Amino acid sequence: MTERQIQQLFSSAPLTVTVSEFAFELEVCAHLEADRPGLIARQLGASVADPGGRILDVICVDPGPAFEKRLALTSETIPDAAIASNVGPGRARYWKRAFPDECHPKQARRAMERACEIGFFERERRNGRTYVRQVARYPDWYGRLVGIENKPDLGRPGDLEAQLRTDVSLALVDEVILATESYVTRAHLNRIPDEVGVWRVHRGESDSPQPLEVDIDVIREPTPLPTDEPGIEPLESHPGRTEIAVVDAGAKARARRRLAERAYGKGWRTYDLPACGACSPTDPNETGATLPYCQWAGEIVDAGSRCGPSCPGYDDADGEPVDLEAERTTQTPWRANPAGRQRRQSGLDQFE
Ligand code: SF4
Repeated sequence: MTERQIQQLFSSAPLTVTVSEFAFELEVCAHLEADRPGLIARQLGASVADPGGRILDVICVDPGPAFEKRLALTSETIPDAAIASNVGPGRARYWKRAFPDECHPKQARRAMERACEIGFFERERRNGRTYVRQVARYPDWYGRLVGIENKPDLGRPGDLEAQLRTDVSLALVDEVILATESYVTRAHLNRIPDEVGVWRVHRGESDSPQPLEVDIDVIREPTPLPTDEPGIEPLESHPGRTEIAVVDAGAKARARRRLAERAYGKGWRTYDLPACGACSPTDPNETGATLPYCQWAGEIVDAGSRCGPSCPGYDDADGEPVDLEAERTTQTPWRANPAGRQRRQSGLDQFE
């Protein structure tokens, strides 16, 4: 492959999410949540050598064999350093000796404290030192990871081709899918890697999203990617050349675990409801989730980028309080406050 070809493959710029892409994304997430087992999350980093270099719009996490055990463990993202440490579920260990040398002491302390706080570790004091153990062995809880790139309008593709080529080349997720509302032509298909699946998404015709009317036509099935082999990730583009990193299979496996954990803790209901009287949140019984629908704009709106007193339709009234975390508990397998694992002590410092 020539340098020019590599540059064409990997040239990219920061991702911009337009307002209509935001509405599209939330409606797709609501549809997928109702349609698939496991968990849905949005806007998560999916690069390894350059953290944050690639953000996937939507991640679907399929359940693995021990999914139920993960549900019972904690509702939060478990820090990867805590999972990778030598802290096990049996004998408690002095925490400073449980983290490898390459883990910076500050990072190790943060991970230990956080793991205790969210109930993955339990701690005890002995002779002025903190000893920790896992409350339960970290479970094999996730299966396939499917990444979805939303591009409702293929007439404004942005960096779509380079992003999808990066996803295929790195192969961090098991499948990559392009979701669009546009009519997909042969020319569109020829411009993206053969491994990328393509969905045409049909949304309801009415101004209101209620009830949620999302249908998906599978134009092309995705090809499974070699997640257990090394991948190639672009780093920086310069005139005439692109720096790339070869990411080994071990680093990819750890990155997949981090991705699954972040998806678990975060989910996709990460938006705010606008503090504006014009916002009329949708009924979750109709749309699967409380979506921030604006009567004035006639669409789902992103409060973080669009709403405020400078908006011509702004109405200085209290919005309706909505508990999106409680909604996640009722609408998905995720549990806000799992009971944790009850353990039986079999010796002075041994637990089963
Ligand atoms: S601030 Fe504007 S866009 Fe946001 S909810 Fe109010 S009227 Fe709608």
